[in-house]
Amino acid sequence: EKAPYRMQQSAVISPGGKIPLGLQRKALRIVVTGGAGFVGSHLVDRLIERGDSVIVVDNFFTGRKENVQHHFGNPRFEMIRHDVVEPLMLEVDQIYHLACPASPVHYKFNPVKTIKTNVVGTLNMLGLAKRIGARFLLTSTSEVYGDPLEHPQKETYWGNVNPIGVRSCYDEGKRTAETLAMDYHRGAGVQVRIARIFNTYGPRMCIDDGRVVSNFVAQALRKEPMTVYGDGKQTRSFQYVADLVEGLMRLMDGEHVGPFNLGNPGEFTMLELAEVVKEVIDPSATIEYKENTSDDPHKRKPDISKAKELLGWEPKVPLKEGLPKMVEDFRKRIFGDHEEEKE
Ligand code: NAD
Ligand code: UDP
Ligand code: UDP
Repeated sequence: EKAPYRMQQSAVISPGGKIPLGLQRKALRIVVTGGAGFVGSHLVDRLIERGDSVIVVDNFFTGRKENVQHHFGNPRFEMIRHDVVEPLMLEVDQIYHLACPASPVHYKFNPVKTIKTNVVGTLNMLGLAKRIGARFLLTSTSEVYGDPLEHPQKETYWGNVNPIGVRSCYDEGKRTAETLAMDYHRGAGVQVRIARIFNTYGPRMCIDDGRVVSNFVAQALRKEPMTVYGDGKQTRSFQYVADLVEGLMRLMDGEHVGPFNLGNPGEFTMLELAEVVKEVIDPSATIEYKENTSDDPHKRKPDISKAKELLGWEPKVPLKEGLPKMVEDFRKRIFGDHEEEKE
C-alpha cells in the first residue's frame, strides 16, 4: 500500500525542534468519531500531543464534553455535534471510527439505534473515507467471537454469535461493520484497519454504565456490595486504556489491515477481579450475587500473537497498576472534594 497522506497545511512536526529535518513527520488532520467518549478522548489526547489536528464527531449519547474540554481553545482541536447515522462531509487524512455505545446497558437501551450506528454509521464513514482518500480504522470488538468455542481467541476464529439475542444489535452490528470495511477495501480500494478490542478500563469510563470494572469500583467506593452476576467464575481480560490507544495508533499508522486483537491476555474470573478491587479500595468490601443476564460469554481472552508480531505491540499495564488510576478518577467524580456523593 502506498502512503495516502495528502498534506493539508504545510505544518511539519518537530517537538522542541530536536528532530532532524529528514525525519520530521507531516501533521495530519484526523477525525475521531466517538471522540468525546471513554476510549476516544484518550486517543484524542495522544493525537493532539503528537502535533496532529483533530476533529471530534460525537452525538454525546454516552460521551461527555468534560472528557475533551481541556482542548477547547486549542486551534488544532474542533468538535462537531453530529450523529454518524447522518452523512458527513469533511476533508481529513485519517478517520478513527469509534462512535458506538460500548456497554451492554447503553447498547441495549435502543437496540435498533445501535444497529443503525454500526451499519449506517460505518457505511457513511466508509463513504467519506472513499471520497476523500482517507485511511479508515474501525474499532470492532471481541464480541464478534460471541460465546467462543475456541480459547483463547485468535483472529482466524469466526465466532459463535447468537443472531437473535439481546446482544446481537452490538455483536452482529460490529460483524457487519467489519464486513463493510473489508468490502470497501476490496471493492473501492479504501485503506482500512480493523481492531478487535477486548474489555478496556480506565479513567473517564462512564460511572454507571453497568460494566463490571466500573460497577465494582463505584460500588466499593460507595461502600455498597459488589454485584457478581451468576457464580462469578466467568472470565474476562482487562486492558488499561493507554495500552489500547497505543495499539490503535500503531495499527492506523502501520501497513496491515487486520483484524487485530487488542487486549490484555491476563485472564481473571469476576470473583478474582472483586478481590483485586478489594485490595485497591477497601479490604472490607463485600460481594452480593445476582442472577446473570442471558447470552453472557463464559470466557474471553485474546491471543495477541498477531499484534505482537506485526505491530510490535503488547500491553504494558497490569490490572494492579491500571486500577488505582481509574479509582483516583472515580473517587474525584463521585465525591468531588467532599465525603458525600456528587450528582
Ligand atoms: P463510549 O460509550 O465511552 O464512547 C462511544 C462514543 O460514541 C460516545 O462519545 C458516544 O456519545 C458516541 N456515539 C455513540 N453513538 C453515536 C452516533 N450515532 N453518532 C455519533 N457519536 C456516537 O465507549 P468506549 O468504551 O469509548 O468505546 C469506543 C469504541 O470502542 C466503540 O466503538 C466500542 O464498540 C469499542 N469497544 C470498546 C470496548 C471497551 O471495553 N471499552 C471494547 C470493545 C470495543
Ligand atoms: N457519505 C458521507 N460523506 C461523504 C461521502 C459519502 O457521509 O463524504 C455517505 C453517503 O451519504 C452514503 C455512504 O456514505 O450514504 C456511502 O457512500 P458511497 O459513496 O460509498 O455509496 P453511495 O452514495 O454510492 O451509495
Ligand atoms: N458482571 C458482573 N457484575 C457486574 C457487571 C458485570 O459480574 O456488576 C459480569 C458480567 O456478567 C460479565 C462480565 O462481568 O460476565 C463482564 O461484563 P461487562 O458488561 O463488563 O462486559 P462484557 O460482558 O461486554 O464483556
